Amino acid sequence: MSEGIGKKTVRDIDVAGKRVLVRADLNVPLDDGQVGDDTRIRESLPTIEHLIGKGAKVIVCSHLGRPKGVDPALSLAPVAGRMSNLLGREVLFAEDCVGPVATAAVEAMNGHVLLLENLRFHPEEEKNDPAFAAQLASLADVFVNDAFGAAHRAHASTEGVTHYLPAVAGFLMEKEVRYLSALVANPPKPFAAVVGGAKVSTKIPAIEHLLPKIDLLLVGGGMANTFLKATGVDVQMSLVEDEQVAAAKEILARAKAAGIEVHLPVDVIAASKFAEDAEALERPVNEIPRGYMVLDIGPRTVKEYAAALGRAKAVVWNGPMGVFEMEKFSHGSFDLARAIANLDATTVVGGGETAAVVAQAGLQDRFTHVSTGGGASLEMLEGRELPGVAALLDA
Ligand code: AMP
Repeated sequence: MSEGIGKKTVRDIDVAGKRVLVRADLNVPLDDGQVGDDTRIRESLPTIEHLIGKGAKVIVCSHLGRPKGVDPALSLAPVAGRMSNLLGREVLFAEDCVGPVATAAVEAMNGHVLLLENLRFHPEEEKNDPAFAAQLASLADVFVNDAFGAAHRAHASTEGVTHYLPAVAGFLMEKEVRYLSALVANPPKPFAAVVGGAKVSTKIPAIEHLLPKIDLLLVGGGMANTFLKATGVDVQMSLVEDEQVAAAKEILARAKAAGIEVHLPVDVIAASKFAEDAEALERPVNEIPRGYMVLDIGPRTVKEYAAALGRAKAVVWNGPMGVFEMEKFSHGSFDLARAIANLDATTVVGGGETAAVVAQAGLQDRFTHVSTGGGASLEMLEGRELPGVAALLDA
């Protein structure tokens, strides 16, 4: 995986003595004002350290959560503290990302890293407002986009600024795009797609794009119910998208015609209600009790999926196999995570909930690549060009 991504990167520009604006994805979970899982902060460090090493003044910006205007609960200030600990150097914090506060903070920089306050405190960020993008750009001489997790959005800090500054990719952006595009363009064969998660509608474009490339398709999670219904199974009270049953049928027919091996759950964990204290019964798919809902794949299914994946040389996994947030319905996701981790294959995990499963199982290091971007990785699996990547200078 040494080929480039067709875009200039931080390796290709001279940054010595320059002010460099780095768009990072520091959208970490906050728990009572404390940083929870800091994976995204850690993943942003290689680019920042590289720039410091080259003598740049590093100005970092990011969004955090979905604030409606200024919201102290979504301040990036705690992230500056954690970043400072991880970097082993001072990280200054500016209480606004544009305007006089930001400008003064940049002027006062003296060998420090500066983190700007949450971009989304300004609604102009998501509107990709040109005047806001110009204000942001005025803080720097060069722009580095390392926020893969936000690259599927054309916002001021991902697309707008590139109209005002030379723009290149950071190391995380490069790594993410390289792994995901290489996997989709030229996968080792046999290539397996494991798809799960709540809704089939959000995954259909990716499944359709992957169909001509894959040899195996394994379906789990809530979306499997719609596929099961398409094959005539009575899924009782399970989450089903009735308007997608036809699409599921169509995918099954196309997969069959293309000789793709498709696996749907053969057994499930059926629950009396959507709750941790529900009664949970292990049942074959054709015997889901009346009034029950499927909240996980069953142990026979895990075994069958693990055996089928045994011959895969590449696996892409997007979407949990069940409601893994509740212990009772988490076994399918965790057991399958362990099975995939043990494969002798290229294994790539789409971000979001699936990355959370892998992290909770402590298996991050056992996968070839675990993406930091859920929406962005899904769009790459759909074969779409990400606006935040398209806007960067061509190599
Ligand atoms: P997604 O963002 O589409 O990948 O969906 C992830 C969510 O799907 C997780 O939060 C799971 O709790 C949920 N999920 C997985 N399996 C089921 C299921 N059988 N019924 C309802 N929700 C599910």
